[in-house]
Amino acid sequence: MLHVGINGFGTIGKRVADAVRVQPDMTVAGVAKRSPNFEATIAVDRGYDLFAAGQDGDEPFHAAGITTAGTVGDMVEASDVVVDTTPGGVGETNADLYADRDTPAIFQGGESADVAEVSFNARANYDTAVGADTARVVSCNTTGLSRLFAPLQESYGIEKARVTLVRRGGDPGQTGRGPINDTLPDPVEIPSHHGPDVKTVFPDLAIDTMGMKVPTTQMHTHSVNVTLESEPTAAEVRDLLGAESRLFLIPETLGIDGAGKLKEYTRDAGRPRGDVWENCIWAESVTVEGRDLYLFQAIHQEADVVPENIDAVRALSERTASAEQSIQRTDEAMGVGQ
Ligand code: NAD
Repeated sequence: MLHVGINGFGTIGKRVADAVRVQPDMTVAGVAKRSPNFEATIAVDRGYDLFAAGQDGDEPFHAAGITTAGTVGDMVEASDVVVDTTPGGVGETNADLYADRDTPAIFQGGESADVAEVSFNARANYDTAVGADTARVVSCNTTGLSRLFAPLQESYGIEKARVTLVRRGGDPGQTGRGPINDTLPDPVEIPSHHGPDVKTVFPDLAIDTMGMKVPTTQMHTHSVNVTLESEPTAAEVRDLLGAESRLFLIPETLGIDGAGKLKEYTRDAGRPRGDVWENCIWAESVTVEGRDLYLFQAIHQEADVVPENIDAVRALSERTASAEQSIQRTDEAMGVGQ
């Protein structure tokens, strides 16, 4: 049984902890937090050992009446692998905490690529992380694009990808973010940083990206054009993508016209927090003109990286024979693709 510690129990961390808990080969060694807010009380309610990560140790938690099991260093000691889900830029300041204890660590997409040996996506480059000491699970957008490009590259070859990313303004709990009434080119520079980030997973890929921000907290939407090296039919592309467990081709008959109904669908289906772990590709948007493929996909920013973190834990700890085996085990335990 792998003991997995989670440092940072916010949007991503609490989901990773719950995903670790349902794996047959993993257990939660503990979760660490800096502030004694509502998520700290949820951690305790869920039965996780809570460790204090701030400079003031466990004092703020005790003042708030919350019991802790020690400080973050204790949690790292008790962990075979740590998943760092602290805010972007904070993870790199924790690197020595893990290295000093010889504990393999997984960072998130908010860190720069050089925080870890490998930028990781389970479908695209699982093997590069096997036995590494550190990996960075790429951002929600890069994860969504990597899952799509891997099968396209393998089956048809990619000459060039062009993607416009229409990004949610913030997560539901991020009350300070926006815009609340505008449509922004963001970043206004072209290409946006997303293309270079995809290249940390696919170094040889030709890709240009443009970013926008809009007033929604639901999901990102990608408008994708990929010039392929061969000429499949749209039906063949649909069959290829539909066979991938982390790609959901939204059938026209479901009447899902946007992220709002996608989230409603997963809430109705009883998914935890209404999470959408899969890329959601509108099946009827899959169009091929010559060698040009076009489609729309929606990406749930709070959820798609969660199964990837579980696979990264297995890769670093060398506990599974292959990417396929880890992906299948993760998906079965969480209900991804079901
Ligand atoms: P968040 O702000 O929701 O959660 C961060 C948590 O870390 C909070 O519980 C906070 O109390 C805690 N924390 C802050 N400083 C800490 C410290 N020094 N030590 C321990 N804990 C500390 O952030 P998030 O949205 O979960 O993002 C975490 C990482 O995941 C970032 O790198 C982000 O870029 C990446 N990511 C976020 C999203 C998203 O849409 N939210 C998607 C993909 C990747």
